[in-house]
Amino acid sequence: MQIKDVTNYIEQLAPLSYAEDFDNVGLLIGNYNTEVTGVLVTLDTLEETVDEAIAKNCNLIVSFHPIVFSGLKKFNGNNYVERVVLKAIQNNIAIYATHTALDNVNNGVSAKMGEVLGLEKMKTLIPKKGIIKKLTTYVPFAEATNVREKLFEAGAGNIGNYDNCSFNVEGKGSYRGNENSNPTIGKKGELMFEEETCITVTFDSYLEGKILSTLFKNHPYEEVAYEIITLDNQNQHVGMGMIGELPSAMDEKDFLLFVKETFKTGCVRHSELLDKPIKKVAVLGGSGSFAIKNAMRAGADAYISADFKYHEFFKAEKRILLADVGHYESEQFTKNLLVDYLSKKISIFAIILSEKSTNPIYYI
Ligand SMILES: [Zn+2]
Repeated sequence: MQIKDVTNYIEQLAPLSYAEDFDNVGLLIGNYNTEVTGVLVTLDTLEETVDEAIAKNCNLIVSFHPIVFSGLKKFNGNNYVERVVLKAIQNNIAIYATHTALDNVNNGVSAKMGEVLGLEKMKTLIPKKGIIKKLTTYVPFAEATNVREKLFEAGAGNIGNYDNCSFNVEGKGSYRGNENSNPTIGKKGELMFEEETCITVTFDSYLEGKILSTLFKNHPYEEVAYEIITLDNQNQHVGMGMIGELPSAMDEKDFLLFVKETFKTGCVRHSELLDKPIKKVAVLGGSGSFAIKNAMRAGADAYISADFKYHEFFKAEKRILLADVGHYESEQFTKNLLVDYLSKKISIFAIILSEKSTNPIYYI
């Protein structure tokens, strides 16, 4: 099994096109065609992580956070990023990062936080825009069923709990081929009017290559007429954060103690207690202050995330309980998520959970 086989599995869970624009995800170090000896899963890649991979005969590190975020211009080992990159390259260790691609799926980082808290009826807190595309194509009537079915098989036409979704209109298409043409129906130079079905389907943007190759392979015409547009619709199943409900309402102090224990954190920084029960809870792994307003708008009684600054606690406005559990703590279960997922897909070598905590923050 090669690195690309492992990364294909990861991208079935978390397509790279779901990652945020500022991010740096995918295979950061190494070659997709290298045979894999073992996979080490970690939240961060430090020098100790590369040492652990070497000791455990893993030549692929699957890291949640990318070790290289912005460009590197020198490789002298003057800081930890350069040292990790040098050590990985010198020891033929590949590094792959999934980061916000995994943040943005509704069975990813935040869903895992909701799962450990026992949240029910979970849905995406901030559904993502710009990742649904629409394909319209024109197919001779007799071939329309086949082309439509092949597009469905390639992943088009899925909307929430429904598949095989399309809209079809019958009409007349016209065309005339020049002297270099080879028309499937009619002759070159002849003006044709053909009964055609206009098929419209939506699809996830990451499937575009597959959808187009399927269309070109199965459409009978020499020149395939089609249009693709990016929709402004939100995808309700992709995006940052999750919101759900506790099985039963909790007193806010009990809730905070439960959160502290669940996330095994040395400290929960929280906003003013509001003397109201906690039932609806929003969660977002990592730095989540940007979503305080979204959690309030969604009617959450509490919002659990990390890296809230002093002034951001004022944004609670006596309407929500904000709880900062720590960045590492909020994302710690992501490692288990990746190990469990990859272990189900791959059995020919071990998927190893890194033993070392990479949390750079300590509490006293
Ligand atoms: Zn993070």
